[in-house]
Amino acid sequence: MKLIKTTAELIDALVAVRGTIALVPTMGALHDGHLSLISAAHADSDSDNDVVIASIFVNPLQFAQLGNCDDYRNYPRDVDADAQLLESAGVDFVFAPEVAEMYPLRTPEVWVSTGEMGSQLEGASRPGHFDGVATVVTKLFNLIRPHRAYFGQKDAQQLAIIRRMVHDLNLRVDIRAVPISRGADGLAESSRNQHLSASDRRKALALPTTLTALRDRRIDLDQARDQLRNCPGVDMDYLEVVSPDTLQPITWPPTAPALALGAITVGGTRLIDNMDI
Ligand code: AMP
Repeated sequence: MKLIKTTAELIDALVAVRGTIALVPTMGALHDGHLSLISAAHADSDSDNDVVIASIFVNPLQFAQLGNCDDYRNYPRDVDADAQLLESAGVDFVFAPEVAEMYPLRTPEVWVSTGEMGSQLEGASRPGHFDGVATVVTKLFNLIRPHRAYFGQKDAQQLAIIRRMVHDLNLRVDIRAVPISRGADGLAESSRNQHLSASDRRKALALPTTLTALRDRRIDLDQARDQLRNCPGVDMDYLEVVSPDTLQPITWPPTAPALALGAITVGGTRLIDNMDI
């Protein structure tokens, strides 16, 4: 495996590559969820990826105040440990640039705008977040020119926006979705889980538990919201049922495939999760 830090090195390395390139974009602090994306890139049954590239970049554009905030500063980072994990997972190249390498002229003037899809749900609490995601993903696509890119269903809103971006901007990349990887207790794997104490983690299980009850129709959407709101130590941001493609709200009960998404804060850590309904 080769660890690449600059765009010049990246372009040099890719000139020699023949065949199909798979990209797995991440912000590092890798866990089993990320590794499931790498496995999917290696094991895709209807495609054959010759080269698997993972990127590690904590993108300031997708954090509040363009990264000038505690959430960005405190985001867990350990590129060496991540590179070792990626090497064991059989990744060919890791692209882990510094911020100045990705944004040499500092904050870009030209961004990808994600409109209404990006301003609701997560976007309502994190204005500009998805414009930052779409902008950096476009830059990675342009630098790496992958044939396929792998994204987790854990970030269902992000996945829907990336798919729509590829469609709206005619980007020539095939987007593949990978199911959510969960711990044995049912909590979705997340880099932010390392901020949770054991007791916070137990409280956080309210989110997957409520989503499961909703999915199994044991409760309706109002009851699900009440259940989550009333959990001690859990601060509910939203719980919504939407169309998986457009993210438009769907009235309960859904009559077509729908997506239930929720966000909570536990012990100062914001967590998201979702389930197909
Ligand atoms: P992040 O490093 O949090 O930006 O995540 C990088 C990629 O890994 C995104 O496509 C995420 O959706 C995906 N991912 C993160 N956590 C999980 C998980 N628990 N299961 C599946 N994919 C995940």
